[in-house]
Amino acid sequence: MAGSNMVVIQCPHCGEDVELEDDASGLFDCPHCGNNFDWNGDFQSSDLKAKFLLFLFSIFSPSILFITSLWLMVSVFSPRSFEIILYLVISLGICALYTISLAIYGGLKKNKPLLQGALLSIVATYLTIFMMGELL
Ligand SMILES: [Zn+2]
Repeated sequence: MAGSNMVVIQCPHCGEDVELEDDASGLFDCPHCGNNFDWNGDFQSSDLKAKFLLFLFSIFSPSILFITSLWLMVSVFSPRSFEIILYLVISLGICALYTISLAIYGGLKKNKPLLQGALLSIVATYLTIFMMGELL
């Protein structure tokens, strides 16, 4: 079975772990209790949790990157009042590049939570720029 992905599900009859192929579907015999159960390849709760974490990651990692890079540049170069704007723009650029690559990667890999999170993050970045423009 080399190369094929396996998923572990719980038998609905005895609750024991049953290993199935990732794309398998249909009726299966539980190797533990011998009962039949239906499996249609639906995502299990653990997959949903992983998806949710991925979604959160793609939303928050760009802003964490933005804050970290800005903080690093400010503490290394200790800019005076107006130079801070320059570093702000550089940090935003890094953040935008990262988010766009994340969205492209998510799109290519058909990784929906990654793509949705990255797109949401782009919207959030845009709103942040807009609000900063209003403030300056
Ligand atoms: Zn069973």
